Amino acid sequence: MPDIEVTAFNTSDWTFDYSQVVQMRGFGNEYTAKCPAYLIDHPEGTVLLDTGVSYEALEDPEGYGAPHMKAMRGMTAMTEDHRLTAQLDDAGYDPSDVDTVILSHLHLDHAGEITQFPDAEFVVQQDELRYAWWPDQTQWTFYLENDISPLRSYDYDVTVADGRYDVFGDGSVVCLPTPGHTPGHQSVVLDSVEGQTVILAADVAHVRDAYEKELCTAFNWSTEETVASIRRVRDLAREEDALVAFLHDSDDFETLSDQPGITTRDPSTN
Ligand SMILES: [Zn+2]
Repeated sequence: MPDIEVTAFNTSDWTFDYSQVVQMRGFGNEYTAKCPAYLIDHPEGTVLLDTGVSYEALEDPEGYGAPHMKAMRGMTAMTEDHRLTAQLDDAGYDPSDVDTVILSHLHLDHAGEITQFPDAEFVVQQDELRYAWWPDQTQWTFYLENDISPLRSYDYDVTVADGRYDVFGDGSVVCLPTPGHTPGHQSVVLDSVEGQTVILAADVAHVRDAYEKELCTAFNWSTEETVASIRRVRDLAREEDALVAFLHDSDDFETLSDQPGITTRDPSTN
């Protein structure tokens, strides 16, 4: 198996009531979530998993066509230094170095900044693309037309995945459908990083506590599919003795920093 290296860039901090990230638990307790994008260096290409939140959408919600983002600014900590392109630059990458962008799903904290990568191939599940344009009302606010409309453009290279998708055809970077949070949510399995299988489980659960107790985020699309995906990830993790990381879990972000072959960068703590 080829050597893979990972860099996790935290693109913003989001502070929620805990009951929003784990339904019906911890009312009144604040939880500050991370929002990383992961750069995956493979000998045959450079891959990004997710692109963080759009800086423009937070700076100018009206201009971005998403006035409701004004309300989200109070719970979001993002500076220009958090912007993914700024962090890539800091790490010695140009956006044009990114060959493939995998989008776990198209919520605003994962699919902002798509226009910064006009030369990349985007890998998105078909169910996600369809749902994003007409979501249930509970998820309406999480899909921003300006984020996702480039994917409808003929100028963008979009690979529509319908199930498991192996990016390099060698089993080392594999998209695994894990619906529940949204219909077309996918995780990424890396085999391996310094000999360790790593499952970047995105929003299968928002925090590890939810994964361990099989609990949903308040606004998830399907409870049943969420639980099935949590079990799918857990079974795979047991079979492969894999490390599982949940994207928004701030402790998981710290755990990644201790792993060989994985670097974390976080302007919030610099
Ligand atoms: Zn989400």
